[in-house]
Amino acid sequence: MAQPPPPAYDPIPIDKALYEGIANTGASDGQRTKVESFVIPIRSGRAWKVKAGQVCRISTPEGAQVGDLNVWNANNPRERFWAARTRQLQQSHVKVHDRLWSCLPYLRPMITVTADSLASYGVDEVGGRVHDLLGTRCDPYVDQLISGTEFDLHCHSNLVRAVMPHGLNESDVHDVLNVFQVTGFDKEGRYFMEPCPAKAGDYWEFFAEIDVLCALSACPGGDLSAWGWGESGEASDTDMLACCRPLGVDVYDLNDKDAVLASWTAPEVAAYKGFHGLKDPTV
Ligand SMILES: [Zn+2]
Repeated sequence: MAQPPPPAYDPIPIDKALYEGIANTGASDGQRTKVESFVIPIRSGRAWKVKAGQVCRISTPEGAQVGDLNVWNANNPRERFWAARTRQLQQSHVKVHDRLWSCLPYLRPMITVTADSLASYGVDEVGGRVHDLLGTRCDPYVDQLISGTEFDLHCHSNLVRAVMPHGLNESDVHDVLNVFQVTGFDKEGRYFMEPCPAKAGDYWEFFAEIDVLCALSACPGGDLSAWGWGESGEASDTDMLACCRPLGVDVYDLNDKDAVLASWTAPEVAAYKGFHGLKDPTV
């Protein structure tokens, strides 16, 4: 079979030593201080802030569970994570040292992945990879369209409830990064999902490049080992609930920030001035 042409986008250079230094602060005591820690119960969501220069860890404390992540600029929610461009600039599945990029007209890295305990998953025998950027959140609209049932605990709805205390609403919820989720395309190009490979204690960690508001849903599909949402409330849903586990979130300050972040500069928004061919009245 012929080889595909080179990737459309060359990798954008990144200071790997900087991010390895940030990741290494988790390797021994005294280099980080945990400033926030909570658990997201099954089939629910929560939003929280991570300041520029902090590190955040999302984990599977009790074992396999996928999480649907949204990210906004904490000071301007119109700037939010742009999954499609991130797919092009990085890959279909997020790896260590990939960034989550913001939408137009901002287009800058919002967070950078610094550690991933599932990094060795690679590509499985059917072409699946972990930390999915191909799909999006489960939602009650498509569920009702396909199955005719109503259910209020989809990731979309969990994210809607999660952001409301922060002054955001349903229209702010956007395409997600599916953390810990293994997906791919089959030979016909159709999207598939596989059971989550995470074990108790697995984690995915990022560095905040700007102040961000994050929202995460513990998907009602749980570890995706069975197909369904547990929406009926009947005995048959017991199997679905058994697939669901909580997610952990920890936020850290770096203790020796001046040294660890000596070569870091917070990213500016994109340089393009945004005239789009319109006349500049000042010229
Ligand atoms: Zn979901």
